[in-house]
Amino acid sequence: MSETLFISDLHLDPSRPEITALFLDFLQKRAAQADALFILGDLFEAFIGDDDADADPALAVAVSLNALQIPKYFMHGNRDFLLGEAYAERAGFLILDDPSELDLYGVATVLLHGDSMCTADVAYQRTRAQLRNPQWQATFLAESIEDRRAFAERARQQSRDYTGSASAEIMDVTQAAVHSMFERSGAKRMIHGHTHRPAIHALDAGRERIVLGDWYSQGSVLSVSAQRVELQTLAHPTC
Ligand code: MN
Repeated sequence: MSETLFISDLHLDPSRPEITALFLDFLQKRAAQADALFILGDLFEAFIGDDDADADPALAVAVSLNALQIPKYFMHGNRDFLLGEAYAERAGFLILDDPSELDLYGVATVLLHGDSMCTADVAYQRTRAQLRNPQWQATFLAESIEDRRAFAERARQQSRDYTGSASAEIMDVTQAAVHSMFERSGAKRMIHGHTHRPAIHALDAGRERIVLGDWYSQGSVLSVSAQRVELQTLAHPTC
């Protein structure tokens, strides 16, 4: 069967080796048969620079992705925005802009990580603008790996504290941002992750917004073919 696969928000991390194993198994068995694989951000829980790409699990992931003989694409998430061309070359994928548009089996489709549409969260958008600033990134990447690891750990703790206190509504995409993205792109279908609220939303004017799921306790995959779109969960191999 001809299908294109979309995943996001795997948050791969040394603390959850079973999810990395599930992902590597998915690459070997399922993705190898697909037309293409799109990773829409937050592949890694943290990524502090291509010079740390031998760390676990970044090294094993690059080797397995590189062995996969299909077109592969990656878009930055808010956790792995420092992933650069050196790692992309080792993994054998192309880095896509956020947003990116493509014709998918005849359907005009726009791809995003999703965080740019969480416009009600003003504090988050302010931080995002800082972290995506090329000057800030250059300064950060010039720091030692130890200092960068420490910064990343503090940022993750702050993020956990924040997501525990902010309202669920504020951390979702806004309808205004979604509408504006459809208008600007002319797409009929939108695919994004980030919010960890997997769903296929049918909207006005024949539009469709598909949200990918996270990989915290299981795998989540969107399969798109000419005939259908389907959100699927991947069971843990040991369950
Ligand atoms: Mn995210």
